[in-house]
Amino acid sequence: MSQSVVLSVAVPAPLYQYFDYLPPVDVTTAELTPGIRLEVPFGRRQCVGVLLAVHKGSDFRGQLKRATRVLDSEPVLDDNMRQLLDWAASYYHHPPGEVYSTALPASLRRSRPPRQHTLDVWQLTQSGRQASVDELKRSPRQREILIALQKLPDEPDSGLDRQQLQQLGGDWRNALKKLVARGWACQRSRPSARDTEALPIEASAATQAVTLNSHQQIAVQSLLDDLERFQVSLLYGVTGSGKTEVYLQAIASVLQRGRQALVLVPEIGLTPQLVTRFRQRFGAVVDVMHSGLNDGERYRAWQRAASGQARIIIGTRSAVFTPLPEPGIIVVDEEHDSSLKQMEGLRYSARDVAIMRARLSSIPIVLGSATPALESYHNANRGRYRLLHLPARAGGAMHPTMQLLDVRGQPMDEGISWPLMQSIQQHLQRGGQVLLFLNRRGYAPTLLCHDCGWVAQCRRCDAHMTIHQRAERLRCHHCGAEAALPKKCPGCLSNELRPVGQGTERTETALQQHFPEQRILRIDRDTTQRRGQMDALLEQAERGEADILIGTQLLAKGHHFPGVTLVGILNSDQGLFSVDFRAPERMAQQVLQVAGRAGRADKPGEVIIQTHSPDHPLLHSLTRQDYDRIARTLLQERELVELPPYSYIALLRAEATDAQHPQTFLHQAAGKITASTNNVETLGPVPAPMERRAGRYRYQLLIQCAERGRLHHALATVIPQLGTLNAAKRVRWSVDVDPVDSY
Ligand code: ADP
Ligand code: ZN
Ligand code: ZN
Repeated sequence: MSQSVVLSVAVPAPLYQYFDYLPPVDVTTAELTPGIRLEVPFGRRQCVGVLLAVHKGSDFRGQLKRATRVLDSEPVLDDNMRQLLDWAASYYHHPPGEVYSTALPASLRRSRPPRQHTLDVWQLTQSGRQASVDELKRSPRQREILIALQKLPDEPDSGLDRQQLQQLGGDWRNALKKLVARGWACQRSRPSARDTEALPIEASAATQAVTLNSHQQIAVQSLLDDLERFQVSLLYGVTGSGKTEVYLQAIASVLQRGRQALVLVPEIGLTPQLVTRFRQRFGAVVDVMHSGLNDGERYRAWQRAASGQARIIIGTRSAVFTPLPEPGIIVVDEEHDSSLKQMEGLRYSARDVAIMRARLSSIPIVLGSATPALESYHNANRGRYRLLHLPARAGGAMHPTMQLLDVRGQPMDEGISWPLMQSIQQHLQRGGQVLLFLNRRGYAPTLLCHDCGWVAQCRRCDAHMTIHQRAERLRCHHCGAEAALPKKCPGCLSNELRPVGQGTERTETALQQHFPEQRILRIDRDTTQRRGQMDALLEQAERGEADILIGTQLLAKGHHFPGVTLVGILNSDQGLFSVDFRAPERMAQQVLQVAGRAGRADKPGEVIIQTHSPDHPLLHSLTRQDYDRIARTLLQERELVELPPYSYIALLRAEATDAQHPQTFLHQAAGKITASTNNVETLGPVPAPMERRAGRYRYQLLIQCAERGRLHHALATVIPQLGTLNAAKRVRWSVDVDPVDSY
């Protein structure tokens, strides 16, 4: 019996400590392996915690509670992962129990085992398989469904689910009912669709490795020379330079050595195209983890990785915590992308956590980008990262030409200038596709009364409501508030309400009027809300079933549109005048990423950037597509004003329904921080760029130091105590280490 031991447990609670428990009744020490989950009493509830260590009896034994029960026979978090999580808790100054909980799939945060999710599918019966479509001449809907079902491979699991049937369009429910009544189709349940993603797919010979060019060869070789130790490589190459091919070939070697690979991509970089490319090369050992999975699906993908069945895991940021019993390499694609940073709860950078993970596992990590984050670029320049450069487009595709279009004083039609309109016309006539980029969804960002000057303002935010014309709604993009689109001005009852500014919906409408014959596809968050919609639209675009694509940054990443010959960037100037010190960097990255969509195949591409600031030096460097020059210039500016990577920063944020409490709290925090450590500066508290959001006043304190060690010393001393401040009870607060976004 294990009466004389005490268990140290990570419990999901907002406290900066671990908790001690006595072992559950009748449990032997042999069953208490660190890394297993335990159900423990905490406050008035039962929690799922993770066992960290088993100690010899403590003096406080009498007061300790007993853990309720053991939930696992095998650890769910191995030594390496626990080390990583301990590091994350201390680096991000976040309660460790919450860090542990963040790393587990939701199913494992509960004590009940996850349920199997099922999906309804419709299949052909024996007679349905033999039925002739000619009998359904009069019922086109039924006929279409029958054809679709007959096209499926002749396997017991073949069938169409609701979503697939919906894509056939029309009143499929009724048609299906009739097919069932004829005895040709039947319904059954099978394990959820996404799970079947793990079913075998044969690697097809056609997609075997290409012959690498010399730059790619050097990159792959450098990676393979060093598979047994930690090393960060920055794979720097323009879009289409063959970075993915480098990952694929390096991973092939890693797999041959019996190891696993983890590939992290930004949220919207995880395209079916990318997954297909991996699946075709490696078959069924490729698994996918992203936020679209439900709990059961995520849990099973997690299990396949933990059991070693999955050899390659492609996933978005939280996949950085996927268990890998045999880690061999980590790839972070589009490493500059801000969606790799979690913006709530544990505010971690998946890239940086991945680097620490590689270090703890003694394996290489590759950061890939056409436009590396200035931090990474700087690290490569200083020799901390190895630079692997791919200077040219692979497969002979040409770089696009890029030009600025001065739109000052030009007639504009819903955001598109006449010269750009003409270029669109020309490219369409020559059979090219056109991609237009506008980083704002909705119809127009402002609704204004021409008679009295009233503006539709969000009641809960310092922001205008965006007009969504088609839905006839006003929506706040910051808090989600909605209202009906007013017909009359609420101030003066005038009818002269005018939309001001451009959104993708409005530009789409204008394009439809100009090009009534062309197929226009809009891709933004509004047109891709439902699961599967995004993939469907992208595939349509890739197959060339659209002439003009208009969209937000959803269009800018990871996709390959071989037919696109013209890219128009409608409104790039915002990035030049933002208060956020990262705005110019982000703008440059975004423009170059969008530009990379053009002319990847045999057709050369053209990129046109509309601007009101044609003399801006950043825009000029952009048209030369000289990211090196841009990065060097921006780094010099950062050095002058001592911003990252030349200093280290954290943001302490606080918000409340009144404006005073957050400021009081942050003032007190600032005092403690400056008192704790020399040379750590605090700036603020200042209002967040949007002071009021969702009815709460938001303030922030910038904490900065030239030395990382000192900054962290100050945070480690002060942050765990902040909860005890009186003002803390009146605010919601959080700390963000290495913030990428000023709120
Ligand atoms: P990136 O990831 O840098 O955008 P990809 O690896 O996707 O680049 O390569 C772009 C295109 O060029 C792909 O269609 C790919 O198959 C092709 N490609 C890559 N490397 C080569 C090569 N060495 N020879 C011929 N084609 C290549
Ligand atoms: Zn009015
Ligand atoms: Zn709002």
